[in-house]
Amino acid sequence: MAELSPEITEQLISIVGDPKRVLLNEADRYSYSFDASFGIHLPDVVVQPLSTKEVSEIMKLANQYRIPVCPRGQGTSLSGGPLPVKGGIVLDFARWNQTLEIDVEDMVAIVSPGVLTADIHKAANEWGMMYPPDPSSSSVSTIGGNLAENAGGPRGLKYGVTKDYVIGLEVVTPEGEIIRTGGRTVKNVTGYDLTKLIVGSEGTLGVITEAILRIVPKPQATKTMMAIFDDLVDSGRAISKILTSGIVPAKMEIMDQASVIAVEEYEPLGLPTDIEAILLIELDGHPIAISYEMQKVQQVCKEVGARETKVAQTDHEANELWKARKLVSPAIVRIKPTKISEDATVPRSKIPDMFKRLKEIREKYQVDLVVFGHAGDGNLHPNIIADKRDKEEMLRVEQAVGEIFEAAVELGGTLSGEHGIGTMKAPFMEMELGKAGIDMMTRIKKSWDPNNILNPGKIFPEPGQKLVLHHE
Ligand SMILES: Cc1cc2nc3c(=O)[nH]c(=O)nc-3n(C[C@H](O)[C@H](O)[C@H](O)COP(=O)(O)OP(=O)(O)OC[C@H]3O[C@@H](n4cnc5c(N)ncnc54)[C@H](O)[C@@H]3O)c2cc1C
Repeated sequence: MAELSPEITEQLISIVGDPKRVLLNEADRYSYSFDASFGIHLPDVVVQPLSTKEVSEIMKLANQYRIPVCPRGQGTSLSGGPLPVKGGIVLDFARWNQTLEIDVEDMVAIVSPGVLTADIHKAANEWGMMYPPDPSSSSVSTIGGNLAENAGGPRGLKYGVTKDYVIGLEVVTPEGEIIRTGGRTVKNVTGYDLTKLIVGSEGTLGVITEAILRIVPKPQATKTMMAIFDDLVDSGRAISKILTSGIVPAKMEIMDQASVIAVEEYEPLGLPTDIEAILLIELDGHPIAISYEMQKVQQVCKEVGARETKVAQTDHEANELWKARKLVSPAIVRIKPTKISEDATVPRSKIPDMFKRLKEIREKYQVDLVVFGHAGDGNLHPNIIADKRDKEEMLRVEQAVGEIFEAAVELGGTLSGEHGIGTMKAPFMEMELGKAGIDMMTRIKKSWDPNNILNPGKIFPEPGQKLVLHHE
């Protein structure tokens, strides 16, 4: 990479026309050197674009001088996605949140990249509509980041994930060209589906500057239930039986015993701690239909051996039931300060097997491992709680993480259901895709980004790259 000379900095300032949107001092740049995962990498400069033209000109300049460019939303990535691992420019989109337009007739939302996902939820709700993708980070993550990571959430079980709601994009290529993919129509088969290629490409193929998202009518009512199981395998059987009975819950989340204990120690909610699993199930739709379906769900849970089921009678009670799930993350970081949050995903029939493998890994490496997540779609969140200052412990964590990925892939699953590969999972890519699979993706990357300037060091493993979480 060329040194970031004063001339290049001057050109960046002249492109955006405002020196306050080009951050050069170390304290400012430091805020962009980390995300919600691991590692600290200081960018040479941070630029805060507010238009597609600015992004296009920045990309042309960066491409000419071979300067790495890392797009960034709110930096909540759990896989190292926005980290400037090769230095260069961080493109901060958090300030570009001006466009949030709801078109009820076409049932779409048009958004600029820095809009918070929760604001899209709010705007759609005001029209009696819903934007279904609901990552738990909705109120702190941008739609640009969600699109680049193909974010999912609890509602993914019934409604799908981000990619299922994107029908058009405006994208700036690494060479600075501006392209539009898809549009406002639900159907569009003109040429290759570049929209779907960009979604989930983790900021390595193009910079998203606008998106057209599908929205749907908001369901009339919701109902929530908690089912408590003495045996984890029974909870797995309940999940399969509910889904094959023709009922598709909007959400179906699982918490293992370690998560429940952590929550009870953090904020006692009166949950039993001598159990193996808790399922939280939400149904949505017509009030009469969901009342009937809820009775069936309760019946199935009891038939397969649930110790207890509890249906919330009011919105307040429903919120209380969901509170337990929401408290898992803050509760576990009280145990130890470092959280390694994985999202290995398996076919849903393999959830009990995956739980068994995770238990073996916990015992083999003596790590604090808690498991919760989106049970209905097999997307578990094994979280290891550790202290990154303890080198010996972090070495055990590294081995445990490697084995979690092996277990997921051996069970027919995947390294990542929603958090992306970034830097953290790159060393394991070959395990899932094989050499030929990675090679095909490398060729796609090269055709979009011949000089490898856009978010380099992500997704593709470097020769001999290993997961390193410990400090020497
Ligand atoms: C507490 C917590 C809970 C979470 N829960 C979930 C969850 O339920 N589901 C889930 O899927 N994830 C979850 N995440 C992970 C994270 O929030 C998501 O990956 C989110 O989509 C990242 O958005 P962001 O704005 O923070 O993007 P960043 O972290 O800043 O960037 C993420 C990636 O997007 C790229 N990018 C950002 N903007 C653009 C753009 N305009 N054009 C091109 N590329 C771009 C970046 O280069 C990077 O590769 C969670 C994270 C935390 C901390």
